Amino acid sequence: MDYLPIFYQLRQRTCLVVGGGAVAARKVALLRKASADVVIVSPELCDELAQLKSKGSIRHIERNYEPGDLDDCFLVIAATDRRDVNEQVSAQAKARKLPVNVVDNPDLCSFITPSIIDRSPIQIAISTGGASPVLARLIRTRLEGIIPAAYGKLCALVDGFRDKVKAAFPDVEQRRYFWEAILEGPVAELVFAGRDTDARNMLEQAVADGAASPRMVGEVFLVGAGPGDPDLLTFRALRLMQKADVVVYDRLVSPAIMELVRRDADIVYVGKERDRHTMKQENINQLLVRLAKEGKRVLRLKGGDPFIFGRGGEEIETLAQEKVPFQIVPGITAANGCSSYAGIPLTHRDYAQSCVFVTGHLKDGSVDLNWKALAHPNQTVVFYMGLHGAPTLCKELIANGLPASTPVALVEQGTTPQQRVITATLDTLLDVIADEDIKPPTLIIVGEVVTLHDKLKWVEEHHLDNVEGIFAYRS
Ligand code: SAH
Repeated sequence: MDYLPIFYQLRQRTCLVVGGGAVAARKVALLRKASADVVIVSPELCDELAQLKSKGSIRHIERNYEPGDLDDCFLVIAATDRRDVNEQVSAQAKARKLPVNVVDNPDLCSFITPSIIDRSPIQIAISTGGASPVLARLIRTRLEGIIPAAYGKLCALVDGFRDKVKAAFPDVEQRRYFWEAILEGPVAELVFAGRDTDARNMLEQAVADGAASPRMVGEVFLVGAGPGDPDLLTFRALRLMQKADVVVYDRLVSPAIMELVRRDADIVYVGKERDRHTMKQENINQLLVRLAKEGKRVLRLKGGDPFIFGRGGEEIETLAQEKVPFQIVPGITAANGCSSYAGIPLTHRDYAQSCVFVTGHLKDGSVDLNWKALAHPNQTVVFYMGLHGAPTLCKELIANGLPASTPVALVEQGTTPQQRVITATLDTLLDVIADEDIKPPTLIIVGEVVTLHDKLKWVEEHHLDNVEGIFAYRS
């Protein structure tokens, strides 16, 4: 270990920064985050620092560095573009045993600044010992993804309970069990869901009960899994996926995403294909209620966003009636995912000022939509579940005023390695669907924006033969 990681208390301590440019400004920002009293010595200041000076947030000595500037300092940072000055600051600070950092010059440093994940009061510092700050940043990005932003709040909450818990659980082992149950259990989950008061009450109760682990309450996580590419999951979705005891999922959740759910969770497939519902909606609703009431953490995983043609509303209504706690996690809906991966902006100043998402499949199997409103110039219309109703869709849009030459895109299995984007016009769409053997799930995008696909497409398509579709039907 070349360096000892420590966390240095700098509140109201005088810290000297030599240099007044953009690099110095970055370090000043860091020191100010730690509430240090920053003094800058430099003949000039960049705009950012000049502004801080005018607000009285930093002190400025307007001249070149002199050794006396080190008097009464706790820490020094040299950030000038002159090597001789940086060397001088480094040597003189070291002679006085002052911690010194020379930006981008590990040889002249007695300390280096790490890459930081700030979940105050939690701090995670990453260092490569100066070897590769970029690598440190990459590691940081990965960690950022797995450490919920609300960990800081959780930490602050439990901090306030330390003495009480110590009194309630004098035994160290017991205390450790208690804290593990709290930090991995429903109290933490409530904090992550933004229900701070409930979390505090539950923690209070758990301490009062003197129980080693508070009673587990069942809960349903209604989570949008996005359109297929696992990279499009939200952090929260991923976290809850890894936490669930039971997963209830349907056809539109891709296997690549199912790979990411907790290994030992029970898996229930509830299907849903057009006209071939594996489990009736009412039964799904009841299943969720029953599992949660058994005390399980139930992950209801749905393709795209649960509130867009996903019947999320119906499922939640039943949960709410039955007083089962739930959380809803949005997902990237097919229209967003498919349009991005197809290079078709849904709105564009030259082509479309509005965008409508409609379902091509109504409850009773008909396609009875307000065609007049849909057949509107300068508007993009996105049809979900539109393949079956495509003949009606083309006929009605044309009958209600859209030119037969209006461009249309079919995005099949969007955002997955099997994605196909095929363009047509309203009058050729049916032939194209038949000729290209288009299958669900496919999104139909109608509007002038489709013409941008040629220019903006960026995802390479691999039309692999004999590869089973990623959304293979399961039972
Ligand atoms: N809740 C989902 C939509 C469910 S309706 C969401 O927000 O995306 C199912 C329809 O969504 C499919 O018939 C298809 O039109 C569309 N769809 C979902 N995922 C898709 C994908 N990866 N590629 C193309 N279309 C998709």
